Amino acid sequence: MIIEVEGLRKRYGPRKAVDGVTLSVREGEFFGVLGPNGAGKSTLVEIIEGLRPADSGTVRVLGRPSWPRDLDLLARLGIQTQSSAFFTRHTAREHLRRVAALHRVSSVKADGVLTLVGLDDSADTRVEKLSGGQRQRLAIASALTHDPELLFLDEPTAALDPLARKQLWGLLKSLSDRTVIYTTHHLDEAETLCDRVAIIQRGQIVAVDTPVGLRERTGTATLEDAYLALVAA
Ligand code: ADP
Repeated sequence: MIIEVEGLRKRYGPRKAVDGVTLSVREGEFFGVLGPNGAGKSTLVEIIEGLRPADSGTVRVLGRPSWPRDLDLLARLGIQTQSSAFFTRHTAREHLRRVAALHRVSSVKADGVLTLVGLDDSADTRVEKLSGGQRQRLAIASALTHDPELLFLDEPTAALDPLARKQLWGLLKSLSDRTVIYTTHHLDEAETLCDRVAIIQRGQIVAVDTPVGLRERTGTATLEDAYLALVAA
């Protein structure tokens, strides 16, 4: 198992953000984390990443506890967040080469990742001039330069227009042989991309299954309908 979470709990004052979560993620899985706003997704994912401590329970990532914070383990993860930071006065290529240098990865490799995410045509464009979709590609590229063993993507299509969102799907699909933890509110995306999804509500797992399994279980035609049936139950 790449990720093993057992009996995880985290509260903020009286609020139980994560309330007894147990789950595991296998190597090569594209694993979706779904749930309403405030359900505890970010808290859960950040605890798994080793960026927040839990109150109790255990988390093992790549076979190691992720807390106390383990910089060697973090170096093996790729993390794209909603607040990904950029070297804004740089071009896309320069930005990625600097990110790569921080990981002691060569410029040649960085340029290869720029190609992989489809940004060759924008390589000389300053980061601040990139479109939302191009910026998300660069954020994903930044999480990929060091060829991480586990990739976390946090709503990479959140602020994109419908066309840019669909265009990003091709890139996301191309990552499907990696192990990816993927947070999204777009159920159509999760249905297309994810091998399995966990639906979280009020800090607890409502269901973990394949999109097909969730549809069958709820007698619905789409993952979106399955999701709505499960979170409304
Ligand atoms: P989601 O990512 O699903 O929207 P979060 O993990 O961000 O949910 O939040 C879960 C709950 O924990 C929410 O009620 C939120 O207000 C609360 N919460 C999250 N982070 C903090 C924090 N740093 N301090 C206090 N409460 C928090």
